[in-house]
Amino acid sequence: MPDTTSGAGVASHYDLAVVGAGVVGALTAYYAVRQDPARRVLVITHAARGTGATRLSAGFDTPTGHNPAQRELAARSTALFDKLATELTDLPDAGRQPVDVYWLLGRDNIAALDATMADGGTTSSVEPQQRRMLEEAFPGLAHGGDEVLLASAPMTAGQPQLLADHLLDEVLSTPGNTLLEGFRVASIGRTGGHIELVATDGSRVTTDKAVVAPGPWALDGPVADAARERGARVKKVVAFHIMATPPPHAPALIFEDADAFLLPHHPGGHWIFSITSPDWDRGPDEPLAIDARDRDLAVTLLERHVPGFVPHLLGGRVLGDCFTPGRLPVVDTVGDDDVVMAIGGSGSGYRLAPAMAEDALDLLYRRTRI
Ligand SMILES: Cc1cc2nc3c(=O)[nH]c(=O)nc-3n(C[C@H](O)[C@H](O)[C@H](O)COP(=O)(O)OP(=O)(O)OC[C@H]3O[C@@H](n4cnc5c(N)ncnc54)[C@H](O)[C@@H]3O)c2cc1C
Repeated sequence: MPDTTSGAGVASHYDLAVVGAGVVGALTAYYAVRQDPARRVLVITHAARGTGATRLSAGFDTPTGHNPAQRELAARSTALFDKLATELTDLPDAGRQPVDVYWLLGRDNIAALDATMADGGTTSSVEPQQRRMLEEAFPGLAHGGDEVLLASAPMTAGQPQLLADHLLDEVLSTPGNTLLEGFRVASIGRTGGHIELVATDGSRVTTDKAVVAPGPWALDGPVADAARERGARVKKVVAFHIMATPPPHAPALIFEDADAFLLPHHPGGHWIFSITSPDWDRGPDEPLAIDARDRDLAVTLLERHVPGFVPHLLGGRVLGDCFTPGRLPVVDTVGDDDVVMAIGGSGSGYRLAPAMAEDALDLLYRRTRI
């Protein structure tokens, strides 16, 4: 079985092609090889390795969900991350660090927040000593009388690109597995009993099965129609940087009602301030920028709650992500039982990626859990 990349019009054959080298694609390829080391896997990216939402992700894993299906995905992903941590000996804890988590929200919303916890846990009141620590970490910390600060169990901050790179390296360390860069899949069809992936330049490769994990490109590529039918849209995701050094054990602070959070980013030596940008239907190939509207949102929230961070609000990271109804990823076959799409990270695609990858392979190979 040839394992090289193909030239125009020349087909190489693989057992599994994974379109997408982000965290969802990398996990899919990794699990596929782990399930069956003899399986020949081709990973495809339309640009260079490391192009996509995964590179820019804040990597915050809050095992929560606003509906039972999301909570199931979150809990399963946590278990799979824990398993990865034992498997990836070169990447301790799968690149995840525990982080203490505090929540700021309206008093009336406490029960709703507790119901989101995937492990069934609940939040608790902040003790005076914790309050003092929070006031040190978040300069000028303030909230209204109808709002409350709560503590929850620690969660984790990961390094999604580092993880994806490790997983891909593992996959590519097996001879016969290939990474194909700059191969933009335009269509996927069945020919001569095989699945054929055709690139925009007419190059083609064949495979027995395919998983399409295109992240924010879901509406441009081979699963675009199916993604649209499932209600997928692309939204700009913005995370500002607060250019101040977080203390060594700095906690995260989640503004639950604003769908925003402050997360210490120790590798970068600054904080990440993720907000919910209202910019819908902006494709990842468009020039995307953090704009004045995003900044106004960020400044307004900080002025209310952490005014001491406003002068340090400088730059950040921005890209689209694919959002699906109910923010529930869609992992399903597309037009053929041997082709599965895994889309709809909905701003949480890192933390839900392990379960998405597992579900994609379950659909293709009808196996029990990894
Ligand atoms: C600024 C920002 C902050 C975020 N913070 C968090 C967070 O804290 N926690 C969290 O859980 N999530 C977060 N997210 C969301 C998360 O990063 C994404 O949902 C996740 O990375 C998506 O992974 P993916 O593998 O599906 O897509 P990507 O990482 O975007 O990868 C897509 C891959 O598909 C390839 N591709 C696409 N179309 C084609 C095609 N036609 N042919 C060939 N290749 C193709 C691309 O080349 C790329 O390799 C954040 C996102 C952003 C932008």
